[in-house]
Amino acid sequence: MALLDQALENSKNLFSSGEFITKLGSLVNIVTDSKNALSAYDLTSYYTDGLSDILVDLGIQTEIIDNPIKNAPPFLIGKRIESSELKTILLYGHGDTVPLQKDLWNKGINPRKLKIVDEKIYGRGVADNKGQHLINLLALLSVLKTRKKLGFNIKIIFEMGEEVGSPGLFELCGQYKDYLKSDVLIASDGPRVAIDVPTVFLGSRGAINFELEVKYREGAHHSGNWGGVLRDPGVRLSHALSIITNKTGNILIDNWKPTSLTEEVRGRLKSLPTTISKTLEIDENWGEPGLSSNEKLFGWNSFSILALKSGDIDIPVNAIQPSAKALCQLRFVVGTDANKVILSLREHLDQHGFQDIKIITENAINFEASRTNLDNVWLEKIEHILQEFYGDNIHVIPNLAGSLPNNCFTDVLNIPTIWIPHSYKECSQHAPNEHLPINLLRDALLLMTNLYWNLGASN
Ligand SMILES: [Zn+2]
Repeated sequence: MALLDQALENSKNLFSSGEFITKLGSLVNIVTDSKNALSAYDLTSYYTDGLSDILVDLGIQTEIIDNPIKNAPPFLIGKRIESSELKTILLYGHGDTVPLQKDLWNKGINPRKLKIVDEKIYGRGVADNKGQHLINLLALLSVLKTRKKLGFNIKIIFEMGEEVGSPGLFELCGQYKDYLKSDVLIASDGPRVAIDVPTVFLGSRGAINFELEVKYREGAHHSGNWGGVLRDPGVRLSHALSIITNKTGNILIDNWKPTSLTEEVRGRLKSLPTTISKTLEIDENWGEPGLSSNEKLFGWNSFSILALKSGDIDIPVNAIQPSAKALCQLRFVVGTDANKVILSLREHLDQHGFQDIKIITENAINFEASRTNLDNVWLEKIEHILQEFYGDNIHVIPNLAGSLPNNCFTDVLNIPTIWIPHSYKECSQHAPNEHLPINLLRDALLLMTNLYWNLGASN
C-alpha cells in the first residue's frame, strides 16, 4: 500500500474504531461558554485537558500565554519545527462556544454529551469550532504517524474568546509576531457553500455596529393633550432610517458601497451554486439591484436593523414617547473605508435635516474586513490538491459572508489566509441542536489528510 493510502486508511480507522467520536466527545464535555465563564482561567482546561494529548503526539511544543487584555481568556501557541528550510503553516482554532442553551435542544439531547441521531453528531461546539480543528489536528497526526515527519513546520494559535469578539488576539499577534511567523494560515471555521463540495474562502466580511438615538425630553406626554405640537421621536427615527437604504434594502450612502467587486471576484462567484440554502428561501428582490445573490452576500455590503425601540409595545399607552432608538449594523467587505462609515452616515443624516439623530458608537468596528487576493500562489496550490482529491471543481469564495478575526493574520502577521470549512449552513451553530453529519466529518478528515500529505510531499 502506498504511504499516502496508509495515512488515509489511518484517518478512516479513526471513525470505524470510534476514536474520533470519543475524542470529540471529550472536547464537547469541557464546557467552554466564553460569554458565561466565571473566570477566564476556567477556559484553560480546554488546552490542558482537551487538546494537550494530540499536541504532544504531534510533537508541538506549546505555551499558554496570558491575554494582553485584562480578564480575557489566555491563548495557546505552539510550534513544531522540522527544518528552517521548510515552509511553515499556521493553524488557528477557537475552543470557546456560545452558551449551551441546554433546555432548548431536541428531547434527549444534552449539549454537553455527544449524541448521534440519524448519522448526525449533536453537541455544543461540534461545528463551531471543536469538530473543525479536531479534524485538522488528527489529519496532521495521520500524516506524521505514516511519514514520520510532516514535511513542513507547523505553528498553532488557539483562543478561547472568539465568540466574544476575540479580545487580545490582534495584540497577541503583534507581540508574538516573530514567534508566529509563518508562510500561510490554513484554518477551518464557518460553513461550506454546499454540504458535499469542499469550499475555500480567503477572508471575511467585517461588521460595524452603532445605535441611532433620538431623545427630545424626559418622560412620555399624553397624546390627547400634546399630539400635534410635540416632535415624535419614533416618526423622526423611522424617517432617518428610510434614507439609509431604500424600501428594498439597497444602500443609499455612496461611501458605504464597496469598490472591490471586480470582474475576477464576479467570475469566481458566478461558478458557485445559486441556491443558498435548502431550508430558507431568499428574497430575490432584496438588496442591491443588478447583483446576483452570491454577489450580494460575498461581494457587497448590507445594512440591518438589529433592534428597534420606542415606548413599550407590550404595555402601550396613549402618549408621545420621549425617545426612540435603533441598533444597526453594517456588514462590509474589503474595499469599504471602514473608518469613514460613521462619518459618512453623519454627513448623510445632516444633509437630509436629521441633526437631531445621535449616532452612538462604542467600539464601532466589531470586526475588520479582510481577505487574501484570489491570485495567491497558496490558493493555486491548495485548490489544485483539493480538486484532484475531490475529483471536480471545488467552491472558492473571496470571503465568508460572516465575520472572523482574519485581519489578525492578514494585517498583523502579513500572511495569506486559506480557510477550509468543515461545516454546513444547516448545522445550527449558535443555536440549539448544533450538529454535523458523520459523513461530512469523515470526508473532511480525509480531505485534510490528503492536503497536508501533499503540502509536505516534496520535502
Ligand atoms: Zn461561532
